[in-house]
Amino acid sequence: MTETKFCSKCGEKIDIEAEICPKCGVRQALPASVKKEKKEPWLAALASFIIPGLGQLYTNQSFGKAALLFCTFWLILPWIYSIYDAYKKAQEINESL
Ligand SMILES: [Zn+2]
Repeated sequence: MTETKFCSKCGEKIDIEAEICPKCGVRQALPASVKKEKKEPWLAALASFIIPGLGQLYTNQSFGKAALLFCTFWLILPWIYSIYDAYKKAQEINESL
Protein backbone atom coordinates (compact mmCIF):
# COMPACT_ATOMS: atom_id res chain seq x y z
CA MET A 1 0.00 0.00 0.00
CA THR A 2 1.43 3.36 -0.98
CA GLU A 3 0.83 6.43 1.10
CA THR A 4 -1.33 9.13 -0.37
CA LYS A 5 -2.10 12.76 0.25
CA PHE A 6 -4.58 15.17 -1.22
CA CYS A 7 -3.96 18.01 -3.64
CA SER A 8 -3.96 21.36 -1.86
CA LYS A 9 -6.04 22.88 -4.64
CA CYS A 10 -8.43 20.37 -6.18
CA GLY A 11 -8.40 17.71 -3.48
CA GLU A 12 -7.36 14.94 -5.89
CA LYS A 13 -5.81 11.91 -4.19
CA ILE A 14 -2.13 11.81 -5.22
CA ASP A 15 1.02 9.93 -4.35
CA ILE A 16 2.70 11.09 -1.12
CA GLU A 17 5.95 11.88 -2.93
CA ALA A 18 4.37 13.56 -5.95
CA GLU A 19 5.51 17.14 -6.31
CA ILE A 20 2.88 18.14 -8.83
CA CYS A 21 -0.80 17.20 -8.91
CA PRO A 22 -1.44 15.12 -12.07
CA LYS A 23 -4.96 16.54 -12.33
CA CYS A 24 -4.54 20.31 -11.93
CA GLY A 25 -0.76 20.67 -12.10
CA VAL A 26 -0.46 22.58 -8.84
CA ARG A 27 2.85 22.18 -7.04
CA GLN A 28 2.51 20.42 -3.71
CA ALA A 29 4.27 21.05 -0.44
CA LEU A 30 6.41 18.04 0.40
CA PRO A 31 5.50 16.19 3.58
CA ALA A 32 7.90 16.48 6.51
CA SER A 33 9.23 12.96 5.87
CA VAL A 34 10.41 13.89 2.38
CA LYS A 35 11.37 17.47 3.15
CA LYS A 36 15.01 18.26 2.60
CA GLU A 37 17.06 19.07 5.62
CA LYS A 38 20.75 19.52 6.25
CA LYS A 39 22.69 16.25 6.49
CA GLU A 40 26.07 15.61 8.02
CA PRO A 41 28.32 13.99 5.37
CA TRP A 42 30.58 12.38 7.98
CA LEU A 43 27.54 10.95 9.77
CA ALA A 44 26.21 9.54 6.49
CA ALA A 45 29.61 7.96 5.77
CA LEU A 46 29.86 6.57 9.30
CA ALA A 47 26.33 5.13 9.06
CA SER A 48 27.24 3.28 5.86
CA PHE A 49 30.54 2.17 7.37
CA ILE A 50 28.75 0.53 10.30
CA ILE A 51 25.74 -0.76 8.34
CA PRO A 52 26.13 -0.62 4.55
CA GLY A 53 23.06 1.10 3.11
CA LEU A 54 22.22 2.99 6.29
CA GLY A 55 23.88 6.13 4.95
CA GLN A 56 21.67 5.84 1.88
CA LEU A 57 18.57 5.78 4.06
CA TYR A 58 19.92 8.71 6.06
CA THR A 59 20.31 10.70 2.85
CA ASN A 60 16.73 9.91 1.70
CA GLN A 61 17.76 7.46 -1.02
CA SER A 62 15.64 4.49 -2.03
CA PHE A 63 15.22 1.55 0.29
CA GLY A 64 15.95 -0.79 -2.63
CA LYS A 65 19.38 0.75 -3.15
CA ALA A 66 20.12 0.56 0.56
CA ALA A 67 19.02 -3.08 0.65
CA LEU A 68 21.13 -3.91 -2.39
CA LEU A 69 24.22 -2.39 -0.82
CA PHE A 70 23.48 -4.14 2.45
CA CYS A 71 23.19 -7.52 0.71
CA THR A 72 26.35 -7.11 -1.36
CA PHE A 73 28.69 -5.28 1.05
CA TRP A 74 30.73 -8.46 1.62
CA LEU A 75 32.05 -7.94 -1.92
CA ILE A 76 33.83 -4.94 -0.31
CA LEU A 77 33.42 -2.69 -3.34
CA PRO A 78 29.68 -2.02 -2.69
CA TRP A 79 30.61 -1.30 0.94
CA ILE A 80 33.19 1.30 -0.07
CA TYR A 81 30.74 2.67 -2.59
CA SER A 82 27.98 2.97 0.01
CA ILE A 83 30.30 4.99 2.28
CA TYR A 84 31.43 7.25 -0.57
CA ASP A 85 27.92 7.59 -2.01
CA ALA A 86 26.36 8.48 1.36
CA TYR A 87 29.02 11.13 1.98
CA LYS A 88 28.61 12.57 -1.52
CA LYS A 89 24.81 12.53 -1.34
CA ALA A 90 24.81 14.37 2.00
CA GLN A 91 27.02 17.05 0.44
CA GLU A 92 24.66 17.29 -2.55
CA ILE A 93 21.65 17.70 -0.25
CA ASN A 94 23.39 20.47 1.67
CA GLU A 95 24.35 22.23 -1.55
CA SER A 96 20.78 22.08 -2.87
CA LEU A 97 19.31 23.69 0.25
ZN1 LIG B 1 -4.84 19.17 -7.98
